[in-house]
Amino acid sequence: MTPPEKAKPAWKGVPQRNVREEPTRRAAPLGGRVFFLFPGTSLIPSIGNTHFGSTWEPTLWSVTPFPQELRLVIWLLAQDSEEILDRETTPHLSYSRINRYLTCPEQYRLYYVEKLRPKVESAGLVFGALVHVALADLFRSGADPADTFRREWGNLKQIELRYNSRESWEDFLAKGQNLLKKFLEEEVPKMGRAFGVERKFELAVTSLALPFVGIVDLVAEVEGRLAVVDFKTAASDYQDHEVELSDQLTAYWAAVPEAERVALCVLVKTKEPRIEWHFAERDAGRLAEYLAKVQIISEDIAAGTFYKRPGRHCGYCDFLPVCLGDRKKAQQTLLKIA
Ligand code: SF4
Repeated sequence: MTPPEKAKPAWKGVPQRNVREEPTRRAAPLGGRVFFLFPGTSLIPSIGNTHFGSTWEPTLWSVTPFPQELRLVIWLLAQDSEEILDRETTPHLSYSRINRYLTCPEQYRLYYVEKLRPKVESAGLVFGALVHVALADLFRSGADPADTFRREWGNLKQIELRYNSRESWEDFLAKGQNLLKKFLEEEVPKMGRAFGVERKFELAVTSLALPFVGIVDLVAEVEGRLAVVDFKTAASDYQDHEVELSDQLTAYWAAVPEAERVALCVLVKTKEPRIEWHFAERDAGRLAEYLAKVQIISEDIAAGTFYKRPGRHCGYCDFLPVCLGDRKKAQQTLLKIA
């Protein structure tokens, strides 16, 4: 089988690809809190200001780089690995950016324009991130993923994270180890060669003003067929239609169009660990449909078209205090990154 890196793009409008692998995410504990960091950066808390529209201007914690030798680094990453790409200075588009705008344009503005982030990360997000780290290490070096997870999650025991009422550090430790042990024993035997692990890609698309970038979790043979794989940790399994219609998988297939299938591998955090695979196919028509949507959204972003799109998702949105005008809570829960 021809390695994906050498194959030609299969559609018009994407004249070039630039694929490279590099270390991506880390997490750093500081002052009892975890912040997500990116290659070449570190952080120290300091007082800074930010604007919330024109009505008020709270003081928030801001994050600034500080010398390499002072960095307190353990391992890393954010559940959404494309966050790393957002630290790059070159303007770009990504699945994450488009998806956030589609969820709520105001949420996009607060996240990418105002650069607000929660002060304390969600434990579920960090858990998902470390599962990704363990799986990436497995496919890169053969390291036992349960061991990797136990070590990295152990480093976080004293760190302040946001747990909901049903979550605890101990519960996540057990679930992470059990899921990854099961993955190693039952899923890895179904898999063949891995051609790319957390592979970064950049697409120049003639209809888009900016490059489209992303990070694919895994490109590998699964049950004998080349697949673009995205790992998820979730409280319940996905439904088939979610995979069939997933914009994320369409976007990632764009980086590896020679892949026969796209796949979601869902590590379900139930008491009895479950791992579910969902496969689907993509073609040039589906990609063209997605790129047309990206073009529309990117033009709205460039024009500064932002508005609130309220819905059930507000209940999970870090910026709810801002939209509700709850200045005190916003100051307590949010920070502005440099
Ligand atoms: S709280 Fe709702 S309306 Fe406000 S930014 Fe978040 S998703 Fe948008």
